[in-house]
Amino acid sequence: MPLELFLSPSLKLLHILLVETIKGEKRMITLKSFITEIELVTKINLVFSQKPALKSFALDNPFRVVFDFSKVQGISPKEIPVNKYKIREIRFAQYQPEVMRLVVEGEEVLFYEVKSSQNTVSIEVWANLLKGRKIVLDAGHGGKDPGALGAFGLKEKDVTLKLVLAGKVLIEKLGGEVVLTRDKDVFIPLPQRVKIANSSNAQAFISVHLNAADDSTANGIETYYKDHREDSQKLAQALQQSLIREFDLKDRGVKTATFYVIKNIRLPAVLTEVGFITNPQEIKLIESPAGAARFARVLAKTLL
Ligand SMILES: [Zn+2]
Repeated sequence: MPLELFLSPSLKLLHILLVETIKGEKRMITLKSFITEIELVTKINLVFSQKPALKSFALDNPFRVVFDFSKVQGISPKEIPVNKYKIREIRFAQYQPEVMRLVVEGEEVLFYEVKSSQNTVSIEVWANLLKGRKIVLDAGHGGKDPGALGAFGLKEKDVTLKLVLAGKVLIEKLGGEVVLTRDKDVFIPLPQRVKIANSSNAQAFISVHLNAADDSTANGIETYYKDHREDSQKLAQALQQSLIREFDLKDRGVKTATFYVIKNIRLPAVLTEVGFITNPQEIKLIESPAGAARFARVLAKTLL
């Protein structure tokens, strides 16, 4: 006869609670979802049934970063070949009866960062992709010169600075060097910007601007270089293509111009108009944190 029938109602409740607790303790963690985004900084997102304890470390020959998640069961092994951005492969398996092991194998040393909240673990992995690369980033306008005034009261000088600073963070994370013509809201005369670039020993100069028009539907991206400067033309084409791919905005093309900065800088030098500040949808997309991250990715890719 089941035990429950002999128990008083309150004892019965206690019994049920005890059984539930024991069951709960025995309950193992399972992996609910696994998503990877292969990028300059590769993202791996894992969702578990409960928060697992995590141990991470690096191994050599070949270089691997290893993540052990304890109390995780029922893992079917998976291998994801990457062969991009110095990452060879991402794989995971049931390493021990109660340990799931995730491994990211690299062609060389990889760096990583882990963030977890509740049942989700987010891992970023990247290599020193831009080691030895140096770029000058020029945030258009600044200080007393606001540049174009756009939708939502946005000023060109603020958006260009935001974009350039995002680029700096990513490029430096990937081991590259960034020289900024300004890192805050100050007025820097054009000759001074040229001087900074010409004494920088960098591989490229990118001046960041936003277009403006009376017609708030005017849209798209365009990039300028100085005529008869083949190195600048190449950079302009690569940057423009990459911007269009990343933002999926109208391609207004690569054009020649004689703007002061691109005319006087000896490095491959371009000026890009990353969309219209006067177009509400476009500027919302560009100046959002996600937009700045996309722009940063584009800048970093021009240095690969
Ligand atoms: Zn401008």
